Amino acid sequence: MTKGALLVLNSGSSSVKFTIFQVGSKAQDQVSPLFAGQLTGIGTDANLKAKTSEGKLITNESWADKDRGSVPAILPHLLEWIETNLPADLPLKAAGHRVVHGGETYDKPVLVQGDVFKKLADLSPLAPLHQPQNLAAIEALANSRPELPQVACFDTAFHQTQPPLSTTYAIPKRYTDEGVRRYGFHGLSYEYIAHNLRENKPDLAKGRVVVAHLGNGASLTALDNGVSVETSMGFSALDGVPMGTRPGSLDAGILIHLMRTYDMDADDLEKLLYHQCGLLGVSNISNDMRELEENSDPNAQLAVDLFSIKVAKQIASLAITLGGIDGLIFTAGIGEHGPIIRKKICDYLAWIGFELDVAANDANEELISTESSIPVYIIPTDEELMIARHTVNVLSA
Ligand code: ADP
Repeated sequence: MTKGALLVLNSGSSSVKFTIFQVGSKAQDQVSPLFAGQLTGIGTDANLKAKTSEGKLITNESWADKDRGSVPAILPHLLEWIETNLPADLPLKAAGHRVVHGGETYDKPVLVQGDVFKKLADLSPLAPLHQPQNLAAIEALANSRPELPQVACFDTAFHQTQPPLSTTYAIPKRYTDEGVRRYGFHGLSYEYIAHNLRENKPDLAKGRVVVAHLGNGASLTALDNGVSVETSMGFSALDGVPMGTRPGSLDAGILIHLMRTYDMDADDLEKLLYHQCGLLGVSNISNDMRELEENSDPNAQLAVDLFSIKVAKQIASLAITLGGIDGLIFTAGIGEHGPIIRKKICDYLAWIGFELDVAANDANEELISTESSIPVYIIPTDEELMIARHTVNVLSA
């Protein structure tokens, strides 16, 4: 790619996160962040906040006057703002999008052209809360900048290497054949970690590694020689461990019970399962791990402990798939910044051979285990960088 700027977008229903990268100045695939920001409260109280890559605040301004109630309607204004803030010698060259679902069709990022958009829209029933929002942003950009190449990067793609033993639910085969299978998510984060390991810890990268992506959304993945072999999220992003507002794995009988006893329909269940469960549901206080850690209410502590033990159980379960475990990586908000949770998780796993170095763990250092322990590392994830690299690679191919 020739020298310019690249826009990376992660679009939700009422917010858009964006990062601007500089591309093409050095090596073909080299990208470096310039500034990043988010537009939040779209439809209610829109606000734009942006910072340089060094963390200096560029702006924090109300966009109430530009708010037309939806992400697609406000995006042209964001594009205009971005372009006025770009250096003159860095014209906008392309956009890379985080798209939640690539289904079985896409095992790598793709340039959005021809029938790609329609194929992605056909996958919306698999991720009804996110896929339409991601696609609406692509469509809005295409409408205001038809010449701008756009690349879709998928949360599911990295997991397409998994064998049927990991992806199959014990349900009638006809549903499996129609796509009711485990897909897994957070793939861009795991891919970044796999690359990072290959570059910085090549021996461990060849081994059996469990990566714990613990943020507001949380999942874990087993990497064998850098390849995803199993992950805790499944058909949807509801499966696996408890999260901020999602329950993780549930006895399916509960859903039947809720439908019968409380007369709940699909929309009611969706609202409950995506927004009212997890840490928030158990504590009845907050979905924010930090707040719960600081709260002595027994329900807050139950939520913290439940999260920790479920994550530990998931790590042990993924170690079975891997036939052992050579290293554990913590990443995302709680994984990168939460010593209390990391300690609880590793204490549950002491019998396997995990022991944290208390001081290193408290200081959020990179290596946080003792010498005699199976190594435990903190590696900050960077999904935006992964999308930027993918976008450049797709466009350079
Ligand atoms: P998202 O999935 O929305 O990207 P993040 O990766 O930013 O979320 O993670 C958000 C979570 O990380 C919140 O539960 C927050 O409380 C938690 N977190 C951030 N800092 C800390 C900390 N110092 N200790 C414990 N939890 C933390």
